[in-house]
Amino acid sequence: MKYVYGPVPSRRLGRSLGIDPIPSKTCNYQCIYCQLGKTTNFTNERRDFYLKEEIYKEMEESITQNKEKFDYITFVGSGEPTLCKSIGELILKAKELSKKPICVITNGSLLYNDDVKDEIIVSDVVLPTLDAGDKKLFIKINRPHPSIKYEKMIQGYIDFRKEFNGKFWIEIMLMKGINDSKEELLKIKNKLDLIKPDRIDINVPIRPPTEGWVQIPDKNVIPILNDVFGEYNNINFPERGVFSVFSSNFEMELKTLLERHPMRQQQIFETFSSKKFNEQDLLLQLNILESQNKIKKVIYNNQTFWKLIN
Ligand code: SF4
Repeated sequence: MKYVYGPVPSRRLGRSLGIDPIPSKTCNYQCIYCQLGKTTNFTNERRDFYLKEEIYKEMEESITQNKEKFDYITFVGSGEPTLCKSIGELILKAKELSKKPICVITNGSLLYNDDVKDEIIVSDVVLPTLDAGDKKLFIKINRPHPSIKYEKMIQGYIDFRKEFNGKFWIEIMLMKGINDSKEELLKIKNKLDLIKPDRIDINVPIRPPTEGWVQIPDKNVIPILNDVFGEYNNINFPERGVFSVFSSNFEMELKTLLERHPMRQQQIFETFSSKKFNEQDLLLQLNILESQNKIKKVIYNNQTFWKLIN
């Protein structure tokens, strides 16, 4: 399938059936921590990148096939999903096909846009990101399209939250020496107090980031987080569990998974053991794909990851 994947384990959503209406890597941000690599289509123009009928077809097939095997239907792009002009229609179609809650994972940059707001307000959970408490750090971390202005974006969050009846969970990506000081965290907290999300999730770059100098914060940031965010605080750890694979075609299934994000080697072993592969075979196949320049090994945070070569 091209537009629908999973169910996959998700840190915040249990098992999630992903719908990806955006080609890799189309975004209006170029985040320093992005796990999908550099933004190759840097745009803030909303449009349909694919025929929506083709996406409907896959949604229908996958929802029927997986019935009760997922907890959420999640719109999440190989880039920013709200850049898809038909996201509203896709959400309505998902609601027609399934009773499961609908989630939109977004960078939040377009929540101020009335069309985007009206289109995604019918979902059940919206998960935007907020990594910076001021414009200067926003530009440093997210490297947004020049047409995106920080204050307007924050106002978009505030207004959306007021109108939205679902769950509004904000994720903060915390990085060592960048936004993990008490001063920067207090600035973020000030904005959160205006936005009033239902909860915040503090995350760290657990997978290899776009910029090699991005690092996971030291553990001594935890008391600062507790101090600044108090009961808001919800620190996330790497997701557990295996991904779903549908066939014994290792190369095809692995590439489908790696298109979404790099994977820990151990997680690849665990995922493919369901198809009766043993670790030695898998390692051999990984090494063959590496020698064919299809995937590459990355050591990050003392763990081995595999990612696609774009
Ligand atoms: S992390 Fe998300 S918002 Fe940032 S560049 Fe990657 S896809 Fe875009």
